[in-house]
Amino acid sequence: MKSWLNYSNDSDFSIYNIPFGIIQQKDGTIVAASRIGDNVIDLYTLAKDGFLDEFTFDKSILREKTLNRFIALGKPVTSAIRKKIQFLFSIENETSKNKLIKYLLPDDEVKNLLPVHISNYTDFYSSREHATNVGAMFRDPANALLPNWLHLPVGYHGRASSIVVSGTPLHRPKGQTKADDQPMPSFGPCRLLDFELEVGFIVGKETELGDSVSTADAEDYIFGLVLFNDWSARDIQKWEYVPLGPFLAKNFGSSVSPWIVTLDALEPFRTDSPQQEPTPLSYLQFAGKKNYDLNLTVDIVAENGSAKTVSKSNFKHMYWNMCQQLAHHTVNGCNIEVGDLYASGTISGSTPDSYGSMLEITWGGKNPIQMPDGTERKFILDGDTVSIKGFCEKENVKVGFGEVFNKILPAK
Ligand code: CA
Repeated sequence: MKSWLNYSNDSDFSIYNIPFGIIQQKDGTIVAASRIGDNVIDLYTLAKDGFLDEFTFDKSILREKTLNRFIALGKPVTSAIRKKIQFLFSIENETSKNKLIKYLLPDDEVKNLLPVHISNYTDFYSSREHATNVGAMFRDPANALLPNWLHLPVGYHGRASSIVVSGTPLHRPKGQTKADDQPMPSFGPCRLLDFELEVGFIVGKETELGDSVSTADAEDYIFGLVLFNDWSARDIQKWEYVPLGPFLAKNFGSSVSPWIVTLDALEPFRTDSPQQEPTPLSYLQFAGKKNYDLNLTVDIVAENGSAKTVSKSNFKHMYWNMCQQLAHHTVNGCNIEVGDLYASGTISGSTPDSYGSMLEITWGGKNPIQMPDGTERKFILDGDTVSIKGFCEKENVKVGFGEVFNKILPAK
């Protein structure tokens, strides 16, 4: 497949991708959009001018501040619209080039907004390597995984209101911490600020309260994926998390990449899941390739521009896949809504250069990272920007996510 648009071979946004997002133009106009190379496609104006007329939906849903109503059209419709966009900008349709060029905007002239209103947010804990590292560090290396971990995808309900789009700066959170050698807790800015490298999926189809989604049907409910950074305040977390789990250590801000990459676009990059031993209960069993070969990197960029890649991981390492996560989440009848975000949990590989958090990379601060400017990092400093990037690539087909980045500002 080729496009009549020119873009670099290295672009995440090849004609094979056709992601969906929400953009704000220079004059303030907000529309739904897609992207090929560095060209952003204004889908509302394209539809208004009749290029999507074979689809009978109300075109004004492409002029909203979120994609929720568009996504709610259902995958049979949104998948067909994606295919139509792909055709319009493909070489086969080059004769229409002059009619279509006016719907293109340079990427650097638009601002990406949060693509969906996130109805509910759940964070899983599905990387065996991550759970093992954390268990070894804080409990017992010989029994790093808790007894439930190999039997269910552990998760917690997170906070949707503080999820922001890439580029949004975040203030260092303040909170309550307690040093091991002090009798009383104290209050102040977090000292151990960390990222968590994750991938999240956006739900595209709701269920009724009481209904469950099987692993076999789960993909019908998943619209697409985003990169996700679950910002974490380790010192606050350590003191607050017993016995109910993460709370203020996590809800001060999480961030997503702006373009939702559809499951359709990720189809060629399916791969086998890690072997699950013991065999999970029947409602968690699945058939077929449910993991994705998605390369992930994390970079820290200091305020002076000094930059270092601190992690190279891959989404394929996940022990519990998205279908199992959704089946587990709904097995008790919990209903899901369009726009729900379910994050994978920190994605760590088996070697230190593939760990998905500073907690693991520096092993709790014991092995600091050396930055090119000579400074070191145990955790994230004020002025640092953390960038997560991700892409799939196979047989010269590249489908990527762009990036999710945030700069950390001093505590407010
Ligand atoms: Ca997490």
